[in-house]
Amino acid sequence: MLNHSNFIRSKSLIRSKFQVILITIGLGILLGIFCLAQFTQIVSFGLLVSLLLSISLIIIYYSKTLYANLPEGIKNNGVWTGTLTGRGVSAWILGVVLTCFYILLYWFPHILGLSSSGNTGIIGFFDPLSQFFKNQPASEWFVYGTLYTLAIILFGIKFIWKYRHNKYQLLRTISVIFFQTAFAFLLPEFMLRLNLPFNDFKNMWPLNYYFFDSSHLEELMHAGNIGWFMLIWGLAMIFLISPILTYLYGKRWYCSWVCGCGGLAETAGDSFRHLSDKSIKAWNLERYLIYSVLLISVVMTIGVLYSYKTGVNTLLGINTYELRKWYGFIIGAAFSGVIGVGFYPLLGSRVWCRFGCPMAAILGIQQKFFSRFRITTNGGQCISCGNCSTYCEMGIDVRAYAQRGQNIVRASCVGCGICAAVCPRGVLRLENGSADISTRTTQLKTIHISEDSLRILN
Ligand code: SF4
Ligand code: SF4
Repeated sequence: MLNHSNFIRSKSLIRSKFQVILITIGLGILLGIFCLAQFTQIVSFGLLVSLLLSISLIIIYYSKTLYANLPEGIKNNGVWTGTLTGRGVSAWILGVVLTCFYILLYWFPHILGLSSSGNTGIIGFFDPLSQFFKNQPASEWFVYGTLYTLAIILFGIKFIWKYRHNKYQLLRTISVIFFQTAFAFLLPEFMLRLNLPFNDFKNMWPLNYYFFDSSHLEELMHAGNIGWFMLIWGLAMIFLISPILTYLYGKRWYCSWVCGCGGLAETAGDSFRHLSDKSIKAWNLERYLIYSVLLISVVMTIGVLYSYKTGVNTLLGINTYELRKWYGFIIGAAFSGVIGVGFYPLLGSRVWCRFGCPMAAILGIQQKFFSRFRITTNGGQCISCGNCSTYCEMGIDVRAYAQRGQNIVRASCVGCGICAAVCPRGVLRLENGSADISTRTTQLKTIHISEDSLRILN
């Protein structure tokens, strides 16, 4: 007779084999597209659309087989034993493929077929779609944007299936799909079609590190009223809209509801969220790294603005353009792209958001000291199962707070709400309240008895 643990094990095994087959087919199709496009110079709108549709159908079918026929409720069985989700062979293969793709995209787009005298290869393969959207040949960023948006939509569908009983998760997933598709992909592409500057209205400095570049400022200022609107909107986002929304709702309004990096992490990266490092060492590293990146980004921006105003390329002996170039190379490309996404299957889905994003750093400082947001804990109900800590993608030891009955107010918390969703006892709740901002973390909601106050009665 099959007992319960054998049943779980055999299901994990099936799931694991299914993952291997699916990854092999998926990678096979992608490799097929690449070879076909790279070596045969096929340019066909129909073929491109059919291939993208095939990938979409495979992912939707995979999601259906995983969740659709099961009762509502989160199913994370086998995540540590699956070859893809448990840092097995598939995870390494996927990590290497993603990393290679990012390296080609950022530094060797010509290998992918980018050429000013007419695209070839995989970039040329996307030309018909690019012509359809903006009347221009594809760039490496168009190819990337298309695949990125498709990934958020498709894995968003998978996520919605998995968390379909949870209204908060449904709403924020629909929100990230909407902002990525409409604001980050369609709108900027159509603006190019109208010969207007490329602009993602939801992307703001310092995440958008080229906002204060002289070339970008000049482009906006010479684009008439719409250019000035984009400039004023960009500044309003930094100094007005973002601080107000972060005060009201915490950094989750951006990191879990709007941002494209967060959108990909929450959808495509959902299967890897448990891989985040929960150690104190990682927490220390996180604080050093993220605030260092923020500092460098502020210095770089001051330097770029100084050079723009004065025409002098050095500030305090630092070449501002070199600094900008290196920031773009190390932080903008290597950290956010290659490590941030390429290492999803090995380090978890929020490596960039946790260790490198200067935007997350600013929002985090505000969330910690000047925001109504907190996760409240009904500590008396906690059974210390540790689900919350396991599935916190930001590596926060949520259980430790729950055991103390202490509100969770951490700069790094992106308010994804998964800790509350996976808690079997309903201990955690994402809330906003203005009455007690300065004492949010000091209140303990469980009765704590010191050793001295214990007496053995005879
Ligand atoms: S503490 Fe909870 S809401 Fe915050 S990042 Fe972790 S899982 Fe998400
Ligand atoms: S998931 Fe809930 S019950 Fe389990 S440790 Fe976390 S707060 Fe406690």
